Amino acid sequence: MIVVLKSSASEAEKRELIAAFESRGLRVDLSEGERQSVLGLIGDPAALDAELIASLPFVESVRRVSEPYRLCGRSLHPDDAVAEIGPVKIGGGHFALIAGPCSVESEEQIVSIARAVKAAGADMLRGGAFKPRTSPYDFSGLGEKGLALLKLARAETGLPIVSEIMSAAQLPLFEDVDLLQVGARSMQNYDLLRELGRCGKPVLLKRGLAATLRELLLAAEYVMAGGNERVILCERGIRTFSEFTRSTLDLSAVPELHELTQLPVIVDPSHAVGRRRLVPPMALAAAACGADGLMIEVHNEPFKALSDGAQAITDKEFAALAAKLRAVREAAKA
Ligand code: PEP
Ligand code: MN
Repeated sequence: MIVVLKSSASEAEKRELIAAFESRGLRVDLSEGERQSVLGLIGDPAALDAELIASLPFVESVRRVSEPYRLCGRSLHPDDAVAEIGPVKIGGGHFALIAGPCSVESEEQIVSIARAVKAAGADMLRGGAFKPRTSPYDFSGLGEKGLALLKLARAETGLPIVSEIMSAAQLPLFEDVDLLQVGARSMQNYDLLRELGRCGKPVLLKRGLAATLRELLLAAEYVMAGGNERVILCERGIRTFSEFTRSTLDLSAVPELHELTQLPVIVDPSHAVGRRRLVPPMALAAAACGADGLMIEVHNEPFKALSDGAQAITDKEFAALAAKLRAVREAAKA
């Protein structure tokens, strides 16, 4: 961290600040210029509050030279991380297609969708059992029964399953779920992130509705700091002024995250656009810009879906999309 002092800083203020840094185990490299003094902090300044230091009346500016996400930062981990979920690999050149309904609704529904998406080339099955809904009056999932039906669909098809966990208290219910999803609304549920750090299972961390990439990475850092490195990031659209789509899919996040972190990055175009017609083109765009996978909502009867029917594509549309995705990925490699 570099701290630039104002020319008005007195010797006493300078000395006091240096002593405060040194008392925290940091070495201070002081360079005195004509107009200002610059303090270079050597050591581990991660726990320092940069905003607090910047608020001191004699401080001109504060700049971090290294980011505080050191476990998920590319600078210390140059090689791509590859997440393994059973036989499925994501990241480091491995691309995975996750598909399934927004919510698990019945045995017939989840098993038929699972069969259809598998036939079309999906690698994993998604399905919400505990649903975070904006309105408390909306369908909020089948809970434990939903997880049981998802496991049944896994047994029928062999597809590993992913489902959203909403609180740390639910962890015992998710013991046999292959990939634990942290939804956009929970990205900053730090108690949950810490517990997931201890659970050792792969975690799919969705970007919060208004989260910066830095906040997303720090959320991943929470899980990793607990000892669990099996984190996959998911861009799912962010809130902007545009009302045309449900959210705005921030595809530039994909190459940017690849630059910043070694973690795999997948894209969920369904929740980003909120409209069936826009899902395939945005899925293709995500593959073209280097996503390590996609998560897509698919329903056998979208018009009867209990949640997010408007953005669900049919199994036939999914099969057509999967074929085009293969072509786009080939083209992107060239
Ligand atoms: C979901 O994937 O089921 C979901 C609720 O998505 P998000 O958390 O991105 O809104
Ligand atoms: Mn949904």
